[in-house]
Amino acid sequence: MSNVILKNSAINVVNLEKSVTTQEGTLTILKGINLDVKQGESVAILGPSGSGKSTLLGLLAALDTPTSGEIWLDGVALSPLNEEQKAALRKQKVSFIFQSFMLVDTLTALENVMLPAELAGVSNAKEKAQAMLVRVGLSHRLTHLPKQLSGGEQQRVAIARAFICEPTVLFADEPTGNLDSVNGHKIADMLFELNQESHTTLILVTHDLLLAKRCERQLVMDNGHLQEDTAHTAPLADAKEA
Ligand code: ADP
Ligand code: MG
Repeated sequence: MSNVILKNSAINVVNLEKSVTTQEGTLTILKGINLDVKQGESVAILGPSGSGKSTLLGLLAALDTPTSGEIWLDGVALSPLNEEQKAALRKQKVSFIFQSFMLVDTLTALENVMLPAELAGVSNAKEKAQAMLVRVGLSHRLTHLPKQLSGGEQQRVAIARAFICEPTVLFADEPTGNLDSVNGHKIADMLFELNQESHTTLILVTHDLLLAKRCERQLVMDNGHLQEDTAHTAPLADAKEA
């Protein structure tokens, strides 16, 4: 029964394990993860550094290969896919936002946002990228290089880039981790707005409890185990008031 594909799930994970070989021997990072995330849902992942959050995201995004278990991304089982097929699936369905922004240094804001659309063969990539940058409030920064932008502005470029190809799932790995709290919450507002508009599924890794509470669900990663966090679950209204 456990490998039944749940058709309305953006992400379904069964018995996921990930081990790596280190100088000290085998390190098991993920110890049997089960997870079901519906399309359009927003899910926060909390938990201490080193507990396996980023490793899980890499697996869910088909960037890395599990040791055992199965992942379905938008109904597609990942384990039978070769690298080329995984790359195609990623291009079609997945976007990432990182703590360190990860923009291409040598490209302007506009070129950074255009890049995934161009790679996906979108014909009006430039117009779409321009519209996305306007959407995130950066119409006056189109030709700026990343080093000419503030941290908050760089993350807004990253958000525009993440949404341009209308991903099924957006993985945000500590997206406000390098920003002060005012800018962090501005970035979060934008992320949640676009998430709701586009019905994108959002998987958000954060240490910010307030941010986590704005997601529909909160999960906690603890030493390779993932648990639903009922203690931190609070209605959205509560989090917004605080
Ligand atoms: P988190 O994102 O929760 O901080 P990570 O997923 O980055 O945690 O890492 C979990 C643990 O696995 C850490 O102890 C990290 O050092 C270790 N780890 C992750 N990837 C590798 C790897 N390729 N080789 C060895 N250890 C790794
Ligand atoms: Mg991490």
